[in-house]
This record gives sequence, C-alpha cells and structure tokens, in this order.
Amino acid sequence: MPSAPTKLYADDVSLLVVLLDTNPFFWSTSSLPFSKFLSHVLSFLNSILLLNQINQIVVIATGCNSCDYVYDSSLSTNPGIENGKLPALCSELLKKLEDFVTRDEQLNKQQSQSQSQSLPPTTTSSLLSGSLSMALCYTQRVFRSGPLHPHPRILCVQGSSDGPEQYVAIMNSIFSAQRSMVPIDSCYIGSNNSAFLQQASYITGGVYQKPQQLDGLFQYLSTVFATDLHSRTFLQLPKSVGVDFRASCFCHKKTIDMGYICSVCLSIFCKHHKKCSTCGSVFGQAQSDVASASNLKRKTPET
Ligand SMILES: [Zn+2]
Ligand SMILES: [Zn+2]
Repeated sequence: MPSAPTKLYADDVSLLVVLLDTNPFFWSTSSLPFSKFLSHVLSFLNSILLLNQINQIVVIATGCNSCDYVYDSSLSTNPGIENGKLPALCSELLKKLEDFVTRDEQLNKQQSQSQSQSLPPTTTSSLLSGSLSMALCYTQRVFRSGPLHPHPRILCVQGSSDGPEQYVAIMNSIFSAQRSMVPIDSCYIGSNNSAFLQQASYITGGVYQKPQQLDGLFQYLSTVFATDLHSRTFLQLPKSVGVDFRASCFCHKKTIDMGYICSVCLSIFCKHHKKCSTCGSVFGQAQSDVASASNLKRKTPET
C-alpha cells in the first residue's frame, strides 16, 4: 500500500491540527467551564508556537451540526502582542470561535424546528466525522504543497460522547489517516471513554488520554500532546490500558458487542439479513438456522 512519504525539514518541527469540541450540550453539563477550558487550550497553543518559530497550528471547531476552521497560524498576519492587548492568536481565534458557535447554534435551532413534529430529539454528539475529514483535507494539502513541510499530526480535544450514526464516516477517516501516516492524538475530557477516539489513536499510532483532573488540563496537554513526532521515539508516553473495539451496526447505528458481517463488503449488522443492504450480496442462512434445519432433517426419518 503506498503511503505519503515523510518529508521532514527538521526533526522537531510540528504541524498540529487541533479539533476543539464546542458542543453546547456537553459544555452545559461539564464540571470544567468552557472559558477555563479555552484558557488551558490557548496557553497550550501558544506554548507550541513558542517551542519552535516554524511550528504551525491549525484549529478546527467541532460543533453539534457543523465544523469550521477557526485559526491557522500560517495565515495569521499579525503575530505578537498588539498595544498590550491580547496576543493575536487569542483575539483572532476567540472572535472566529464566537462566530462559529453562534452559527452552529442557529443551525441547531433550525434543525430542531424542522424535526420537532414527530421525530425523537436531535443528537447531542459532536460532528467529529466532519472535523476529522476537514483536518485530513488540510494534511493532504500540506503533503501536496511541495517537498518541504513538517509532518502533520491531529489532536482531538473532545468531551461529547460518541455518535454511533457517524461510525462509518469516522472509521473511514481513521483509515485514511492511517494510510497517510498522520497520527490522531486524543484528549478526552468527557465522563466515559470514547470508543471512537480510542480506536482512532490506536490505529493511527497516536496517544489517547483521559485526564483525571480537568483543572490541570494544560499540564496534560503540554506534557503529553506537545511532544513532536520525532521526540516520541525517545519518550515513554502514556499507553491506553484498553481499547473499546465495538462497532456500530449499519442498520440501526447502534453499538453492538456481536453481530453479522457481510463477507463481501464488511458491513456490520445486528441481525441476520437475507441480503446485504450495502452491496446487495445475498446471504445463506445463519449458522444456527442451518444447524437446527439439519437436525430436523436427521430426525425426520427416525420418527
Ligand atoms: Zn442494527
Ligand atoms: Zn455487503
């Protein structure tokens, strides 16, 4: 399988794409206020830029219904501090983030109005599949930009729970990242572990961590996720204790422990189907049905 060549112009240069969870459903229940979270993240982003002057960061906001680029240090025209105000990174990022959150909220209202008649309430998970795809598009652009560029990595700072309906899109993004050798790091700040992010980091060779103390979020970010890819070979970064490999069925988008897999296209179903809804392959009978049918046949002549 061909993979994107690693074209580093120095060992320790980072190109970090950060995905920030702005889902209001999560932040309204979180013990860590969104403003505190932002101050941890902004300090972390500043420290990345301080580590090396050619380090680059891109920030993508992951909302409930949409996602968008909110900051790109390579496009930032005004680095440094202007007249004692906030540093350019903070003011630019916060302004775009505010615009994004307002737009996402409007979309959410429109969607809940259109669904309010009969359907169940709208999903409370973030659009992680969308922001992962955007991050991968960005990294592809970097790969094609010329022979000299740092090797990119992605960091998901996520708090919302997984949306099983995004299973296929997220798995496709994960395999795409694996193929282009872009590690996905995950800092999960929600209450339970995220199976999607555990799998993403495991498959792409990134680091998954769930901070125990959210007050010290900056400490976790700077000690674990600021590490550039070259230095990781010399360091003992936290390893995840277990990975939840459960999949979601394609028919009902529910997380399942055991299921049926189409041997042609690898679609997953929670129940036995006569025909694969993805590729149209016709299946034989399930094993248990065949066994009971042959038992019946064997028994018939005796009686
Ligand atoms: Zn199902
Ligand atoms: Zn199939």
